[in-house]
Amino acid sequence: MEGAMSDLTRRLTEVLPGNVLTGGQISDDYAHDEALTAVAVRPFAVVRPGNAGEIASVLAIAAELGVPVTARGAGTGLAGACIPAANGIVLSLERMNRILEIDTDNHVAVVQAGVTLSQLDEALAPFGLVYPVYPGENSATIGGNVATNAGGMRAVKYGVTRHHVLGLEAVLGTGEIIRTGGRFVKSTTGYDLTQLIAGSEGTLAVVTEAILKLCPRPKFSTTVLAPFASLAEVSSAVPGIVRSGINPVILEYVDSTGLNRITANVGLDLGIPDHVQTAATAYLIVVVEQHIEGRLDEDVERLAEQLVNLGALDVYVLPLHSSASLFEAREKAFWVLKEMGVDDIVDVVVPRASVPEYLERVRAISERQETRIGAVGHAGDGNVHLSVFQPDAGKRHEVMRAILREGIALGGAISAEHGIGREKKAYFLEFEDPAKLALMRRIKTAFDPQGILNPGTLLG
Ligand SMILES: Cc1cc2nc3c(=O)[nH]c(=O)nc-3n(C[C@H](O)[C@H](O)[C@H](O)COP(=O)(O)OP(=O)(O)OC[C@H]3O[C@@H](n4cnc5c(N)ncnc54)[C@H](O)[C@@H]3O)c2cc1C
Repeated sequence: MEGAMSDLTRRLTEVLPGNVLTGGQISDDYAHDEALTAVAVRPFAVVRPGNAGEIASVLAIAAELGVPVTARGAGTGLAGACIPAANGIVLSLERMNRILEIDTDNHVAVVQAGVTLSQLDEALAPFGLVYPVYPGENSATIGGNVATNAGGMRAVKYGVTRHHVLGLEAVLGTGEIIRTGGRFVKSTTGYDLTQLIAGSEGTLAVVTEAILKLCPRPKFSTTVLAPFASLAEVSSAVPGIVRSGINPVILEYVDSTGLNRITANVGLDLGIPDHVQTAATAYLIVVVEQHIEGRLDEDVERLAEQLVNLGALDVYVLPLHSSASLFEAREKAFWVLKEMGVDDIVDVVVPRASVPEYLERVRAISERQETRIGAVGHAGDGNVHLSVFQPDAGKRHEVMRAILREGIALGGAISAEHGIGREKKAYFLEFEDPAKLALMRRIKTAFDPQGILNPGTLLG
């Protein structure tokens, strides 16, 4: 065994001199992501390739020796999907962080997989362009976003990562390098391999490069906050707002406890009078954006009228600085929950109009199982984020099963955006159609015949 491992180290070092870490050289960061319950695992080796050719060589060696390989972006995932195998290799994309081209005529960016969201946004701003997918953690990489099909707050208007990935360069489990798609939105030319790889959580291929669709960067935006007497009223209002044609870029809900916690965390006073705060149990946060200022004012007026008609207790147009602080606070919600001792989080998606029914069923589970469950979420796209406070692992498992089953029963899915990873794998394998699981396994074998890519995640 020891001989085999030193043979592996030698061969990896031949391909990547100076970029192979083993033993004490490996920092704890490579052993985990931000998932709450997944157990950290230290890999045998970490490799830091600089191009697709080097990745192909690493994967060819791993396939020959049967060694597991886990691709890693920034490790911000919430499902334990980049946790490696103990005898395996972490393939870190940290050195592949170049923006290769911003093509302003075709509105695309071509980037290496290790480019972060904040890096890309900074580079696009001077061109008046934006990559509009907005998962709350800007240190995440494009490769990680593609592999998890990351979503976030702007999905109600712009969709999720897969809607903005036009093409990929990727390395298969065999070491073969493929290119998919291109700088166009239309193609009916065989199976859509780009979309198969998107959301595959590093189990089909290592993404090395992505062609991303960009949008014009809106110049004006306004944030509106609407308190409601109940969470059910908030979520019932959502389909009406979507139908109105105002096309909000963000449509989020948060219960009043959640709003109080996240705003207190950044010392933000939203100026809501005490009597309204007392009557409100939940809030809707709506952001509209426009390229022309006058049109924005019209949209905000129509939106405010509509919110009142839909039962809002009042409507507050937030000043720019409060809006920025509110979103800064919202992005930190995960860390606030962690400080509060949350035991697990859920990112179920249900059809938008079923959110009120779903929340009612979750409330019943919470009462029956004597478990505190908080709610915030991307109301506009039916993505419900629940925080489960239940320290007893056995009881928590039952609560989680019940929550996920109710989502599926309403025509939804277990994960909207965080992925299955290691954390939700047992639930996924229990609830998914066996015929679909068998097909997924056959697809996995076609991309990765030796089964070296991220075993332990999703199907493994
Ligand atoms: C505070 C906070 C808020 C968040 N908010 C959101 C949110 O609103 N919406 C949302 O969708 N997510 C959210 N996330 C989750 C996380 O940011 C996303 O899952 C992100 O896409 C992970 O990117 P990463 O680079 O950190 O990937 P990692 O965590 O490193 O890896 C995630 C998965 O992608 C695979 N992978 C990484 N790079 C590659 C590659 N080049 N090729 C193939 N596979 C690869 C890994 O093997 C693993 O399976 C949040 C996380 C945090 C900590």
